Amino acid sequence: MPELENLAKQLILKNGPLRLDQFMELALLHPTYGYYNKRQPIGKIGTFTTAPEMTQIFGELIGLCFAHRWKQFYPHQEFALLELGPGRGTLMADCLRATSGIEQFNPSCRLFLFERSTSLKAQQKCRLNHYQPTWIDRLDTLPQMPLFVIANEFFDALPVRQFQRGKVAWKEKVIDLSKGRLDYRFQCEAPFEPLNCRLSDTQEGDLIEHREGTGELIEAIARGIKNNGGMGLIIDYGEIKSQGDTFQAIGQQGFTDTLSNPGESDLTAHVDFGSMISVAHNFVDTCLTEQGTLLSNLGIQIRSQHLAQNMRGLELESHWAAINRLVHPQEMGRLFKALTLFPKNTSIPEGF
Ligand code: SAH
Repeated sequence: MPELENLAKQLILKNGPLRLDQFMELALLHPTYGYYNKRQPIGKIGTFTTAPEMTQIFGELIGLCFAHRWKQFYPHQEFALLELGPGRGTLMADCLRATSGIEQFNPSCRLFLFERSTSLKAQQKCRLNHYQPTWIDRLDTLPQMPLFVIANEFFDALPVRQFQRGKVAWKEKVIDLSKGRLDYRFQCEAPFEPLNCRLSDTQEGDLIEHREGTGELIEAIARGIKNNGGMGLIIDYGEIKSQGDTFQAIGQQGFTDTLSNPGESDLTAHVDFGSMISVAHNFVDTCLTEQGTLLSNLGIQIRSQHLAQNMRGLELESHWAAINRLVHPQEMGRLFKALTLFPKNTSIPEGF
């Protein structure tokens, strides 16, 4: 039996059912067997791929978007550049290569990486050492300077809880043992204060998702941007409001059962952009758009044509396939959204 399945069963026997967020934390971040601590979870030989792993243009456009804002509002000022969940460091490497020609931008940048996986930290170090990054595990340690933040497919990996609406309160979905196997069941109905606001727009039987860690992170980012300027860019798949079960597992062969082989598949759930926006609005302004729209506005077509000039055959084909996948409404273009956070009473960032 795989180690993590065994461990989950032992925990249930000892302490009772596991909440979904506890199971996700174990499966993704266990120091030895967690999915993100295995050798190569992301990219071409990993089980899933992300936008920056498909094309260098993704990171480049983000870099140029940040540089544009920096030049406009904070020219020559030192600033903090923070990436949450930098994966293999590809996005940041492309971002800072693209901005290397912009006068004083890279020399003014202090790079911070927020990452829990030891094996991915090692890869980030190889890729980004040249920029002397600092790894942080808390956002309140950031310096008081304009803050530029990127998080791509980070929030979807944070542990999520699921609740089914009962008559007047919520039944949490948990993982228990059934005939010796891991299986889902619902707890008894009980009040859950953070979801009081969803009692009015849900009906008995509806399922919604709730991510505990998101609010705190968004608040820290928004507060930093309010106090020191800068901008945030959060790109992920999700909707304005959580509605329905979006918890999924992607393994070597594509979609797989969420409870089978923990540690062997990537577990994610859609991001609830509405709850992020309501936290952020206490400090900053926000704007939400679709990934396809953002990339098109930032000039993905022109940059792709330029890069394509030096490509032939299969390379050219996979180049255009990647671009299409990122922007087409029926691929990632619409499902993936981009949220920007920026100081109140300033212009909306480029691309939105
Ligand atoms: N942004 C990258 C990687 C996305 S995968 C890309 O676009 O390719 C999710 C990333 O978030 C990984 O680097 C993973 O190790 C990190 N991560 C997941 N949960 C985390 C947590 N709780 N705290 C910090 N980093 C986390």
